[in-house]
Amino acid sequence: MRIVRFASPQGMSFGILDGDGNVAQIEGHPFGRISFTGARYAQADIRLLSPILPSKVVCVGKNYAAHVTELGPGDAPSEPLLFLKPSTSVIGPGDAIRIPPGSTNVHHEVELAVVIGARGARHVTPGQALGSVFGYTVGNDVTERDMQNRDGQWTRAKGFDSFCPLGPWIETDLGALGLDPADLELTCTVDGERRQQGRTSQLLFDVPTLISYISQVMTLLPGDVVLTGTPAGVGPIRAGQQVECTVEGLGTLTNAVADADVVSTAGGAR
Ligand code: ZN
Repeated sequence: MRIVRFASPQGMSFGILDGDGNVAQIEGHPFGRISFTGARYAQADIRLLSPILPSKVVCVGKNYAAHVTELGPGDAPSEPLLFLKPSTSVIGPGDAIRIPPGSTNVHHEVELAVVIGARGARHVTPGQALGSVFGYTVGNDVTERDMQNRDGQWTRAKGFDSFCPLGPWIETDLGALGLDPADLELTCTVDGERRQQGRTSQLLFDVPTLISYISQVMTLLPGDVVLTGTPAGVGPIRAGQQVECTVEGLGTLTNAVADADVVSTAGGAR
């Protein structure tokens, strides 16, 4: 199933995207037993949102050998290198990636995104880990590379509002499509030019290993997202460009790039 979250004139809800591009609205959240409201929408009449609002996005750095090499000197990590992106960095398909004021080195990073299911994940073994997975979507771990190199850690470089595009949908049954999450092609193009290409079979730490490892540190809640790392070919994006991240079987996540929208919440009526 392709799970989407969408905005219609009636508000925000989850739905299931069918083969002809229509969305059937579901009651409540998509975990567990799904019941339909009976409402159906043509995709043209709704706006797709990020398919999930995670309580946290747990990311894995340097998880493809060729990307480790392109980042510069240093070996691949001997165990998964974890960092977090704040929930406020998440945007959906069609939303703009915002370049922070004065920044000239914001990079795209296409990644396989794992969405955790209803039971969550806490102290699971690699053998149990896939039982915690709800489905998969496309992620873009947008990164301010100069800040990443300058700061001692990556919170700022990875954490700006809009730096975590997710979508366009969550596929809950890749197997039914004849696909294996352990061997999916990932690509990223900018204005149509191919920048990144890789396969999840090249992950240094695979999805079960990552979920197990993370779950020894922090409880993964339903809807939490794990970004599994990016293949080689990262590079700068600037306002006016269009970024397309594609993972085999999961569609294409398209986002325009725009300058920061620096509106303060201070002083207004709240
Ligand atoms: Zn990344």
